[in-house]
Amino acid sequence: MKLKILKFGGTAVGSPERIQQVIRIIENALLDGPIRVVVFSAMSGVTNQLIQISQQASQNDESYLTTFMKIEQKHLDTVKTLLEIKNQSSVLANVKLLFNELEDILHGVFLIRELTSKTLDLIMSFGERLSTYIIYECMHQKFKDIEYLDLRKLIKTDANFGAAQVNFKLTEQNIKIYFNDHPALQFATGFISSTLKDETTTLGRGGSDFTAAILGAALKVEAVDIWTDVSGMMTADPNKVPTAFPISQMTYEEAMEMSYFGAKVIYPPTIQPLLEKNIPIRILNVFKAEFAGTYISNQIMNNQKYLIRGISSIPEISLLRVQGSGMIGVVGIAGRLFTALAREKINVILITQASSEHSICVAVTRADADRARAVLENEFVLEIQAHHIDAIVIEKALAIIAVVGANMRRTPGIAGKIFQALGNAQINVVAIAQGSSELNISLVIDEAMEKKALNVIHTMFFEDQLIKSQEKS
Ligand code: ADP
Ligand code: ASP
Ligand code: MG
Repeated sequence: MKLKILKFGGTAVGSPERIQQVIRIIENALLDGPIRVVVFSAMSGVTNQLIQISQQASQNDESYLTTFMKIEQKHLDTVKTLLEIKNQSSVLANVKLLFNELEDILHGVFLIRELTSKTLDLIMSFGERLSTYIIYECMHQKFKDIEYLDLRKLIKTDANFGAAQVNFKLTEQNIKIYFNDHPALQFATGFISSTLKDETTTLGRGGSDFTAAILGAALKVEAVDIWTDVSGMMTADPNKVPTAFPISQMTYEEAMEMSYFGAKVIYPPTIQPLLEKNIPIRILNVFKAEFAGTYISNQIMNNQKYLIRGISSIPEISLLRVQGSGMIGVVGIAGRLFTALAREKINVILITQASSEHSICVAVTRADADRARAVLENEFVLEIQAHHIDAIVIEKALAIIAVVGANMRRTPGIAGKIFQALGNAQINVVAIAQGSSELNISLVIDEAMEKKALNVIHTMFFEDQLIKSQEKS
């Protein structure tokens, strides 16, 4: 039997009215065919608020209680708005119990003035546990054949709190066994997981998409539908490029590149497990449920209208430049550089090496920059002393712009057009890299130019071309 998984993001479940809308979408989808699981995020803003109050509590700042009470009230009000009076008291009691537990944990943080990433994961887990439980109770009033599922039970990870790595083998086994015994539709918590010792972990910010993918791959469903607040993956971030529009179809690789380089609409690790099992992903808009959204699969369209698929960007980037005449021909410098950064868990977003081998540049987040420099200075201390490598230079306040599309492989001149667009707008390119798959061209530019660069490239590839093709027809 063909089964589906749906996932609803924070905005989609952000208020009682939106939850009602989500329930209508689920009911409609059920008319179309069976759904195996629905995954939910925390109500919008709640994860951020939980982080904020944890930090306040750890600084012995009593004002954490004010926000705590606001979060509590929001959830209690949601129950009161959505549940019939006769069903309210037991649900309110359960929600209260969760808040009591959360309050105790926060009080502990307040007293000992310490917030470990392990405790923060436990605190953040309340967001998804609350939203999912409340939506489950709402739906359960009309639809009896559903169950609430706390996925900490099934998704097993290492103890890297904050961004835990999934133990896929064990998780897949757990999922298969559990779902064999539970034929009812499951309402499941996104984002959260646990270690072998049953300590709560999380899958990284935005991780509920990944939860849906883990389940989808293990259960070999027909499709994973990600319901969010925009009409699909768009040609650029609509907050930065007002003329961006939804992409109707794209490949897994293109979606992966777009999300890796900043398109937040899908959490980057989501794609891999689904690509491996060839399970398509749809990105759909809860506010425009009838719109087809974006279909992500392994199909490559031949009659593509545009030269590129989309543009994404990451602000707050720093570039580290390792350079020196002594580097030429020395084997293993790049290898040592990456090993040293990886050892310290510093994520390298982009690399460029000049063909003269005179310098290697790596882009990292601003938050990692100083640590990355210290790591490299330590790694190359002897080479620096011997003047084979000059001091390691950091450039801050940069952004990466990534132009993405499978069509680039076949079409010469795309880089030329990008440079033309940027040149006309007087935007200077600090570094450039092209992925070996030729799926993307990434440019490092001044952070202040991010929006302008996105817009001029967008106009070059989507709007000017559109006008030309309209003129022809
Ligand atoms: P959810 O809460 O549903 O997981 P997110 O906020 O994580 O939603 O992701 C959706 C948001 O991603 C959109 O509202 C939009 O602001 C942002 N976004 C950034 N880049 C893109 C893009 N290329 N296409 C669509 N949305 C994007
Ligand atoms: N609630 C989590 C977050 O805000 C997970 C998610 O929304 O996907 O990061
Ligand atoms: Mg998200």
